[in-house]
Amino acid sequence: MKDIIKSILVSEEDIEKRVKELGAQITEDYKDKDLILVGILKGAVIFMSDLARNINKPIGLDFMAVSSYGRSSTSTGEVRIIKDLDFSVEDKDVLIVEDIIDTGYTLAYLTDNLRKRGAASVKVCTLLDKPDRRKVDVGVDYLGFAIPDEFVVGYGLDYSEIGRNLPYVAALKEEVYS
Ligand code: 5GP
Ligand code: MG
Ligand code: MG
Repeated sequence: MKDIIKSILVSEEDIEKRVKELGAQITEDYKDKDLILVGILKGAVIFMSDLARNINKPIGLDFMAVSSYGRSSTSTGEVRIIKDLDFSVEDKDVLIVEDIIDTGYTLAYLTDNLRKRGAASVKVCTLLDKPDRRKVDVGVDYLGFAIPDEFVVGYGLDYSEIGRNLPYVAALKEEVYS
């Protein structure tokens, strides 16, 4: 693992501090609301576990898994649902929890999809954002860290399923993925 990492972009300490801040902010913003966190598997699992423990009120947890296809051949960035929610989000206040926003296609699809199911509100919390890569506009309501256009692993994010359990976010050496 160490041999494929170029540098640590976000340290364990920085993540812990930021997740606490996000949790406190979300607790305040949703104090009178019926909040459900919707984590996007698998990348958001570690972030969501820590975030949920820093939200100081009863909340619901649910998960979706998606895969994107046709991204290179179409401009629509179509997304397919691999695992759907267990519960209805009708009239619920939904906060989508993502690992990273890149082009924005995944989140644009998910916010639209959950709004159409009658959620009272749909907002977005992402650990990481690569703003330079954006193709479609998506509102980010809660952001951990903006990062440069590098391929990253750790704290849930993988390179071919490797690296998800690293406690920090690291950039891979270019020669690994190019
Ligand atoms: P988008 O639809 O915004 O282009 O893609 C978002 C998804 O692409 C993320 O949820 C994540 O699964 C994947 N992704 C984008 N950038 C990275 C990255 O730097 N590292 C990893 N591991 N996954 C990424
Ligand atoms: Mg993801
Ligand atoms: Mg992945």
